[in-house]
Amino acid sequence: MSAQEQDKAAKRAQWEEINRAKALAKRQKESPTDIAMRPSEIKKIFQAIRGTRDLLPPETALWNRVENTAHEVFATFGFGEIRPPILEDSNLFARSIGGETDVVSKEMYTFPDRLEDHPETAKAIQDVMKEQPRLVGLAIATSAAIYPFISLRPEATASVCRAYIEHNMNQLPQPVKLYYMGPMFRRERPQKGRYRQFYQIGAEVLGGNDAPAIDAEVIEMVMTFFDKLELPGLELDINSIGHNAPECRPKYVELLREELRKVKDQLGADSQRRIETNPLRVLDSKLEHEQPIIAKLPRIADHLCDACKTHYAEVKKQLQLRGVIYRENWRLVRGLDYYMRTTFEITAKGLGSQNAVCGGGRYDGLVELLGGPPTKGIGFAIGEDRLILSLQDAGKGAVRQGRDIYIAWMGEHAYAAAVRTAKLLRNAGFSVELPPSELKFGKALERASKLDSRYALILGDNEVSEGMFTLKTLADGTQQKFTEPELLEFLRL
Ligand code: ATP
Ligand code: MG
Repeated sequence: MSAQEQDKAAKRAQWEEINRAKALAKRQKESPTDIAMRPSEIKKIFQAIRGTRDLLPPETALWNRVENTAHEVFATFGFGEIRPPILEDSNLFARSIGGETDVVSKEMYTFPDRLEDHPETAKAIQDVMKEQPRLVGLAIATSAAIYPFISLRPEATASVCRAYIEHNMNQLPQPVKLYYMGPMFRRERPQKGRYRQFYQIGAEVLGGNDAPAIDAEVIEMVMTFFDKLELPGLELDINSIGHNAPECRPKYVELLREELRKVKDQLGADSQRRIETNPLRVLDSKLEHEQPIIAKLPRIADHLCDACKTHYAEVKKQLQLRGVIYRENWRLVRGLDYYMRTTFEITAKGLGSQNAVCGGGRYDGLVELLGGPPTKGIGFAIGEDRLILSLQDAGKGAVRQGRDIYIAWMGEHAYAAAVRTAKLLRNAGFSVELPPSELKFGKALERASKLDSRYALILGDNEVSEGMFTLKTLADGTQQKFTEPELLEFLRL
């Protein structure tokens, strides 16, 4: 298109836009109801975005129980909480997770930031437009090279490493032990146990040395957390994937590639492609017909360098010392370069094929890759959504939702006493329902049992003048009279 034609096209588009707006305004003036949507239509439009969902009571009580348990258990291992932002510079993930991975190339929510906060970029764009005003300036401006892109985090390890560098945490006593919990975002196909906004609870140990005891203790901590929650049917798989030096993993990967080429014709399309791009990932394959072929492939444990071999043996010893039961799984790999040595995965019951509830591993090169000093690192991430599903499936998901006490008050005098009593009982830690308007006695009891209350506290004019409380146990209908101190004592038992 010539510059003249481009101008014309732009003007035409502008006219069309203006005409559309005018037509809409006219229609709105003529018949506003035509444009306004009916409530039922609005209801249909506003639904949670695909792959996201509302977490509601009573389920949120279970989420809180899980998160409180994490706070407690991790604190006993000396971990402190970090709360990194949910938005980060997109480059952080491209660099750490890798631009070639599915997570970054397909699943990340990425968008251009507005330019107000990026005066240098704004000026660069203006300069280009000034020099070549006819140029399709916007196309250049939006090219990833100069435009500031931000992403919703797909995971938090990169953020924790960035924070470690940004706050010079290498000057603190090493290693630094941090944990986090919160939402992550990946644009995957939603299904049971797989969402676009999901939640992770994770921890990282950064700095210090790479003593196998650290690997073992991190794993012990996750298992302790799961045990506290009584998560059923747990299986811990461990492996060592060596490290990125010529005599170790790369040598094995080459050997694996050679062996895979020999059987290429018998593999599916995905695996065939991976022979060249990332042969380790072939070991991940779940395809039925590939299993016997994979079983005959060389195993990394037989090809580790001496240092990695020793490290792995020591990790296993350290796990035994801690009474952690594990299974060695030579096919457990992580596709990313910066992962090394110890890798582990934990699966749970009741989740179908999305049964991994935790993945973790050592990543000694990552902090350096992000511009920090050479730093040892190991961590894990638990899929909280799947953890919750598994607990629910095992019947461990129930958290009592009812009230402790429902105050059935009758009469104005009684109401003042009811307000005062509600305050007293709530201060003592009981959950109290105080109906905002007077109800007939029968109705009040009905509401009390609908709310799954343990007791109804009956307050009528009689009780107020006697200074007594009548407490009805709803399960068996028995009633007792108490003074205030007696009441508190009874409830506390
Ligand atoms: P998967 O193989 O199931 O896709 P992954 O290797 O992508 O998992 P990691 O990046 O290691 O997962 O994240 C750790 C944990 O986070 C997983 O074991 C899983 O429990 C959880 N997880 C990952 N992606 C999702 C998702 N989209 N929805 C819910 N949980 C997820
Ligand atoms: Mg995934």
